[in-house]
Amino acid sequence: MPTETFEFQVEARQLLQMMIHSIYSNKDVFLRELISNASDALDKLRIEALRDDALDADVSDLHIAIEADREARTLTIRDNGIGMSHDDVVRLIGTIAKSGTGEFLQQLKEAKNEAAAEGLIGQFGVGFYSSFMVADEVTLLTRRAGEDKGTLWTSTGQGSYTIATADEAPQGTAVTLRLKPEDAEDRMFDYTDPAKIREIVKRYSDFITWPIRLVGQEP
Ligand code: ADP
Ligand code: MG
Repeated sequence: MPTETFEFQVEARQLLQMMIHSIYSNKDVFLRELISNASDALDKLRIEALRDDALDADVSDLHIAIEADREARTLTIRDNGIGMSHDDVVRLIGTIAKSGTGEFLQQLKEAKNEAAAEGLIGQFGVGFYSSFMVADEVTLLTRRAGEDKGTLWTSTGQGSYTIATADEAPQGTAVTLRLKPEDAEDRMFDYTDPAKIREIVKRYSDFITWPIRLVGQEP
């Protein structure tokens, strides 16, 4: 199947623009959101494997891995959980399926100041799209447990995204962020720094029950 290009729906576009221009000053929360999605995916796989004996899935070493490449300035958050089918990706990542989002955007428009806006974001949670607070391109490679082909989703957050079939993809999901070049000189936003990653994980994701491994770094 060739690469298909899709337009984001209006609400998704608005939310993305907000993320890209980071009205939220605490960008660190993107990692909490991605780890939370990975953890949910591992929970779902465990439940599905219990329910369905015939599920052709590997549940031997369920975990989350975070891998930074300082040279390339990329950060990858990987899980070997349930993964997504092609249709899941279109439905879950391409649209804002979350019922609260319209309400969120409306309240955000009415927010009087930045503090009020930040409170709303904290309250609603911004999910996968918060990746665009720190990345100028996001790639997601995923394969649903039990399926043999994967799906590659990519976007710069500017209006459209592409989807292609991936013949080779490990079970689960890997989200790779190409970190914004304008943050390169700012230590505060150096998400390739192992100490920084460790600190954010500790601060926001300490309660996650699945192992979180920092790949290529001392534990
Ligand atoms: P929420 O987690 O609140 O549903 P998100 O924007 O964070 O909202 O994610 C949207 C949906 O995309 C999730 O509900 C899930 O179905 C899917 N998803 C996101 N990340 C993953 C992942 N790592 N593995 C499997 N599914 C995922
Ligand atoms: Mg989420």
